[in-house]
Amino acid sequence: MASSLPRLHAVMVPIPAQGHINPFFHLAKLLAARGFFVTFINTKWTEERIFRPPNDATAISSRLQQQGMHFRFLSLPDGLPPHHPRLLIIHEFFQAIQKLSPAMVRLLQNTADEAPPITCMIADSLFACTEEVATVLGVPRAIFWTFSCSASIALTNSRFLFDKGLIPVNVKEAQRPENLITCLPGNIPPVKPTDLIIFFRSKSDPMFDIFLYVSDKQKKADYMLVNTFDELEGPGDVTGLSNGCPVLTVGPVFFPEFLQASDSSVNISTSLWEDDLDCLKWLDTQEPLSVLYISFGSIAVMSIEQLQELALGLEASQQPFLWVVRIDIADGHAAVLPEGFSERVNGRGMLVDWSPQLKVLAHPSVGGFLTHNGWNSTLESISMGVPMIGWPLWAEQYHNTRLCKEIWKIGMDIESRLEDDTVLVTREEVEKVVRMMMMTGDEGSDFRKRALKLKEAARRAVKAGGSSHGNLDKFTQDMIGIANSLSI
Ligand code: UDP
Repeated sequence: MASSLPRLHAVMVPIPAQGHINPFFHLAKLLAARGFFVTFINTKWTEERIFRPPNDATAISSRLQQQGMHFRFLSLPDGLPPHHPRLLIIHEFFQAIQKLSPAMVRLLQNTADEAPPITCMIADSLFACTEEVATVLGVPRAIFWTFSCSASIALTNSRFLFDKGLIPVNVKEAQRPENLITCLPGNIPPVKPTDLIIFFRSKSDPMFDIFLYVSDKQKKADYMLVNTFDELEGPGDVTGLSNGCPVLTVGPVFFPEFLQASDSSVNISTSLWEDDLDCLKWLDTQEPLSVLYISFGSIAVMSIEQLQELALGLEASQQPFLWVVRIDIADGHAAVLPEGFSERVNGRGMLVDWSPQLKVLAHPSVGGFLTHNGWNSTLESISMGVPMIGWPLWAEQYHNTRLCKEIWKIGMDIESRLEDDTVLVTREEVEKVVRMMMMTGDEGSDFRKRALKLKEAARRAVKAGGSSHGNLDKFTQDMIGIANSLSI
C-alpha cells in the first residue's frame, strides 16, 4: 500500500468458539495482507488456549510482522468463572458474552494510542453487543458470517419467521413438502423447517429468545461479508442477507493461504486443542482415497451409547478410518469405547484427540468425511474435493447437510431411529453408509466427481480474478474511502 494512503485499521471480534476464531483469523490475515492493521480480540479463556507458550500472542504477532502483516491481539475476561464449560452450557455462555460491550469499549479506548485510528469493526454475526461498541466508537460495523449463506439468511430473518408463526418449528409436520419454507429473501433453495437453527424447535429452549435478539442486531450492519463463494451459493443468494448494505462473498477464507503451501504462516494454529501430527504419518501409510475421516467439530457431543454404536459400525464396515474423539465428546466427558475395540481395529483405524484437519482433508489417502457438517468443516471438505456423510447434531448443521445431499449432491446423510425415547444411529446404519461412501461404487464416485468440480470452483473464487478475491479487494477499497473521509 502506498504510504500516502491512510492506514486502515480493522478491529475483528469472533465469538470465542473454534468454528468462529478459525475463519476470523484467516480473514484477518487476508486483510492484513491487503494493508490493514488488525486488532484481533479474544477472550482471555480462548487466548490462553489457542496461543500456548512459547507461541503466545506476542510471539505470534511478531511472526506475522515478519511476514509484513501488522497485528495486535487484545483480550478481555468473558465474565464466566474459570471452570465453567463455556459452550457446553450455551445459554450462559451467550448471556455472558453479550454483556461485554462496556469492557470492549474501554479496552479499545485505553489502547487507542498503540494503533492507527479504527476504520471499521468486523464482528461475528452472533456477537450482538458489538453493535453498541461500534456505535460508541463511531465506526462502521461489518458483520462476518461464518455460516453458509442460506443458513445466514434463515437466521437473520428469525423475527420474520416468528411473526409468520413458522418458529417454534412444528417438528412433526416438518417433513411434509408443503411445509417447505419458500418465503425467505434471496434466491436460496427452499428451507425445511427442521433445517432452521436447532434452538428454534422449542420456545422453552433458553437459546430461543437469545437468538431472536441476536438476529435483530444482525440487521444493524453497514457491511456483510460471508464465508462462501459465488459458484457455490450464487450472487442472487447473498442479496437475501442485505438490509440495504453491501453483501460480499469472501470465502473460503482459509483457502488462499492453504494454496500457498510455502507460506510459513500456514503453521500458525488457532486450535483450542493440540493437533496430533502423528495421524499424518499414519495417513502416509494408507492407500489413496481409502480412509474415512471422522470428526464432529469442537462443540457437539454424543452419548456413550451412541459413541459405542458408531465404533461398532466402523468396525463392521472394515474400512480404514481416522476418528477424532475429542476429550469431551461423551456429553462433556471422555469416551468409553467398546471393550477390545482398539485392539480389533488396530492398523486399520486411528483415534486422535484433535487433528490438523485441513492437512488431513488434503491428504491423498482420505476418501470421505463423516462430519457433523459444521460450516467450516463443510467448506473445508468442499475445498479439498472430499465427499461427505452428514451426521448433523446441533445448531445449523441440519441445513448444511441438506445442502450437501440435495442441492450440491456431494454426499449422503445418516438416518437416526427413535429407540426408547432416544435418537440413535445404529451400528448397522453406520456400516451401511460407510461402505456405500468408501467402496467406490457409482454413487460414491459420482459424489467425488461433483466434489472435485466444487473444489476447482473454490480455487477459482479465491485466486486473483476470482469472485471472493475481487470482493475482498472491493471491501478494502471501500474502507480506504471511509478512512479518507475520516481523515479530511
Ligand atoms: N478442527 C480441527 N481439528 C479437529 C476438528 C476440527 O482443526 O480435529 C477444526 C476444523 O478444521 C474447523 C473447526 O475446527 O475449522 C470446526 O468448525 P466447524 O464449523 O466445522 O464446527 P464447530 O466446531 O463450530 O461445530
